Amino acid sequence: MWATPCASVSAKRTRTSVLKRKSFTTRHSTTVSELGKLLLERQPCVVLTGAGISTESGIPDFRSPSGIWAQYDPMEYATIDAFRRDPVKVWEFYALRLEALARAEPNAGHVALAELERRGLVRAVVTQNIDGLHQRAGSREVIEVHGSIRTAECLACGEETALEQAMPACPRCGEVMKPGVVMFGELLPPGAMERATELAREAGLLLVVGSALEVYPVAGLPEETLSAGGALAIVNRGPTAYDGRADLKVDAGAGETLSRLLPV
Ligand code: ZN
Repeated sequence: MWATPCASVSAKRTRTSVLKRKSFTTRHSTTVSELGKLLLERQPCVVLTGAGISTESGIPDFRSPSGIWAQYDPMEYATIDAFRRDPVKVWEFYALRLEALARAEPNAGHVALAELERRGLVRAVVTQNIDGLHQRAGSREVIEVHGSIRTAECLACGEETALEQAMPACPRCGEVMKPGVVMFGELLPPGAMERATELAREAGLLLVVGSALEVYPVAGLPEETLSAGGALAIVNRGPTAYDGRADLKVDAGAGETLSRLLPV
């Protein structure tokens, strides 16, 4: 007697979740085909990516409640003052991040963007990420506005090298080098920001992927595109500051959305 109502409740739940999934899938494929149309019609397309594209590669978003800054106080580990005070302590923290990044692989979202660039449909990727996964997926025109974990720089003499191990000594002057990422309290690299702004202004379509567009000055790039007459499309789980002004918003993952653009 007990089995029947339980089974029917569970069958109902399964039906409901199948229906929900089905309606998500239908809506998703409709918005993806609209995105495909925008991509073809509004060239050139410039892509702006944030942490959301790399979470699918297992790299946690710093700002999420379970993210790195919930365990490490950024004021102690990620500011330029902290580095000047105690570079060894800051490097111990970056060594952990390097380890996590070494295990991460580009995902379907990174691969799709690289393929779209090869087909001439993506002009450049501007990224807030420091993980180098776009380049590893094959993207060639990548502007890293928050720097890169693959490089190190010397604050004493300005030397820049590829980063091969944690806490490298400067080959020129022997000082402890700094990770090539932009730390809190540092300005963004001016060349990269200028290039990103120019690309955003010239874009027929700015495609934002995996960013809530909350961190300035990068969050100001959609404004550059819109005021120059370009269109804005957003692929992001959850709301962003520009949802109301986008031509299209896809509330879904980067990999499942971008990989379906490939038959374009
Ligand atoms: Zn040096």
